[in-house]
Amino acid sequence: MILKHFVQGALANNNYLLIDETSKEAVLIDCTDYNPEIKMELDVYKAKLKYILLTHGHFDHILGVENTKKNIGGEIVAPLADKELINHVDTFLYAYGVENVKVPHIDRYITGEDSLSFGDIQIKVLDLPGHTEGGLGYVIEDKLFSGDTIFKESVGRTDLPGGSFEKLKDSIETKVFTLPEDYTIYPGHGPFSTVKHEKENNRFM
Ligand SMILES: [Zn+2]
Repeated sequence: MILKHFVQGALANNNYLLIDETSKEAVLIDCTDYNPEIKMELDVYKAKLKYILLTHGHFDHILGVENTKKNIGGEIVAPLADKELINHVDTFLYAYGVENVKVPHIDRYITGEDSLSFGDIQIKVLDLPGHTEGGLGYVIEDKLFSGDTIFKESVGRTDLPGGSFEKLKDSIETKVFTLPEDYTIYPGHGPFSTVKHEKENNRFM
């Protein structure tokens, strides 16, 4: 499996492209903007984008979905419990003076009960409420794509609508810290980490 990392947008979001070379299927995790480099990577491997997987409903993770789908395809998949958040992304941004935001159309809403795959690679979906009510993590092989639940030596903010520090702490303790310690954590912003490093160094836990 090939993993490519793109830093996109004003808040320096991490978007991740994973390509299964065997089946030529790919997934994109979070979608800040449409980035033509993603299409170039898919073309290099002659791969097709199967899913655009969103970790949560905050604008900086989701607003590229329609343009990306228009250019390179992919089913847009988002957390069910963040449906309201996504449907009000325009009013949320309007409060910050950003006008004319189009609410993205989501093809499919999922929870931790759902299971997905691309090629022969399983995608385990984790419910990680706390940063938002619907936050999801995606475990693929020995990698956790954590969204804004956990960062290297830090955690996501919980003061925005739908946030709860108690839930965040519980999500990390019961879903993240129970993964094998050598798993890599790929967060929504900033540097990568491992489960072991966070167990030992995360100052919020
Ligand atoms: Zn967020």
